[in-house]
Amino acid sequence: MAKQESHSEAGSIASDLIHFLNTSPTAFHAVDEAKKRLINVGYVQISEREDWKLEPGKRYFFTRNHSTIVAFAIGKKYVAGNGFYVVGAHTDSPCIKLKPVSKVTKGGYLEVGVQPYGGGLWHTWFDRDLTVAGRVIVREEKDGSVSFSHRLVRIQEPIMRVPTLAIHLDRNVNSDGFKVNTQSHLIPILATSIKAELNKAVAENGSIRNETDGKKSTFSTKHHLLLLEMIASQIGCKPDDICDFELQACDTQPSIIGGAAQEFIFSGRLDNLCMSFCSLKALIDATSSESNLEDESGVRMVALFDHEEVGSDSAQGAGSPVMLDALSRITSSFNSDSKLLQKAIQRSFLVSADMAHALHPNYMDKHEENHQPKMHGGLVIKHNANQRYATNSVTSFLFGEIASMHNLPVQEFVVRNDVPCGSTIGPILASGVGIRTVDVGAPQLSMHSIREMCAVDDVKYSYEHFKAFFQEFSHLDAKITVDM
Ligand SMILES: [Zn+2]
Repeated sequence: MAKQESHSEAGSIASDLIHFLNTSPTAFHAVDEAKKRLINVGYVQISEREDWKLEPGKRYFFTRNHSTIVAFAIGKKYVAGNGFYVVGAHTDSPCIKLKPVSKVTKGGYLEVGVQPYGGGLWHTWFDRDLTVAGRVIVREEKDGSVSFSHRLVRIQEPIMRVPTLAIHLDRNVNSDGFKVNTQSHLIPILATSIKAELNKAVAENGSIRNETDGKKSTFSTKHHLLLLEMIASQIGCKPDDICDFELQACDTQPSIIGGAAQEFIFSGRLDNLCMSFCSLKALIDATSSESNLEDESGVRMVALFDHEEVGSDSAQGAGSPVMLDALSRITSSFNSDSKLLQKAIQRSFLVSADMAHALHPNYMDKHEENHQPKMHGGLVIKHNANQRYATNSVTSFLFGEIASMHNLPVQEFVVRNDVPCGSTIGPILASGVGIRTVDVGAPQLSMHSIREMCAVDDVKYSYEHFKAFFQEFSHLDAKITVDM
């Protein structure tokens, strides 16, 4: 008998997260889904290429490279120089991306050449039912004039797989460890050459396409025709009209709620689509009606960045001027006095939200004894004396105070002194912008695996904590003085 589905509030927020995850196989798709949700509730899209005419009490968003998105709602009492209350997260996750020339033919197989992106647990990509998704630049011809469109693509079916080597040919793998050479071992198989040939013959007979015709583009020689045809049919164009693409391999197994007590979320990309989702939903719900912004003197903002997993240094990563540009343009669209930006930054606050490590029951010694984040224990405030996390006592107090006002649990984390510490966009934005920052995240297991897990209740706690931050930060901040 099917398990009774939980209709609790935590369950419904988790189901919404599951939907967000299942529609977001790549950073491009995550931004697309965020964009749809914002437009649905009346946020207005603006472009960084145009002048901004903003008004208090109104809500806006912009995207950069369609892989980073910044959404904000301006309080009705806002004047230039007032603070920004920001939750920042990231849209990207470790994965394998197609090489510029992905066509590999070896041992009677058609394979897809890929390069690793970020610090993935690559062994988890073996024996998974994979597909491809990403963005494609498509050539379009209308009334004799040519233009190029930016389209998202995702093939639903499992079209490729990286098989592990049988134990019989690798007897010591369990004792010596599974070592992955990402250049030679991590190459998905797309088809056998023999079936691909037959497939091509069928396509030619049906005159879908003829590989030997004179119009073949150079791009189409770099990738297997079989793959290009699948992408073209998804988009509704001819393979020759595909001018370029950025595609990645992704798992076809959908995200799902699991565990005997229906308390876990099993999914890829929880790091960091879970925090992206919670912050976005919190912003939307904390700015859903006119009255929400009536009493607000600051700007409530969510910024979801690409490229965190590779260090954030790109035109749209947290290392770029995107955050500073946003704060500066919003401030100056109300008053052109350039000194107001510095004042605004000192009145602002950033919650850098990125998933945290829950205590693993089978590797307890990997955690510091007094800092063992638990599932359902609420957001984890991350500390590091060497500034791998940007939290300090002021920012941790302010963020923790919001939790205690709302009866929400929080927990603390510091890495063991003999284990290297990870980092986030927190220190990058704290040092690049000069904004007070707290580093937080919901606890999870299997971070950077193709299939991770977190807890249903923590999704609800994170969402509520972020929502309360948006609703109350300007009042709370007025009660603490540090630099006077
Ligand atoms: Zn992360």
